[in-house]
Amino acid sequence: MGLLRLPEILASLLARFWYINVYYEAAWTDSWCHRHCLHAHQTLIDAAKCAMPHGAGWYVFAVESGRPRELNDEEEDVVNKFRFGRMDQLMRSSL
Ligand SMILES: [Zn+2]
Repeated sequence: MGLLRLPEILASLLARFWYINVYYEAAWTDSWCHRHCLHAHQTLIDAAKCAMPHGAGWYVFAVESGRPRELNDEEEDVVNKFRFGRMDQLMRSSL
């Protein structure tokens, strides 16, 4: 560990604060009702794992400063990799 100068400390605190300010929720459709899990998942994968047992129509959305927003392309990519990676595994294990 090297010595951190003040601007670096502040930058890292801000980065952490920003991260804390964003969380992810799982959402799915249950008998045509839209539901979400009401957790504050710190990672997309946690939210995806939470959503997975609720069936195929699940998705993940972000909550930023208390306001829900759609995932950006980068986040969507992470979720899709999880979704389709998991499907590959399921298909392979059923052979
Ligand atoms: Zn959840």
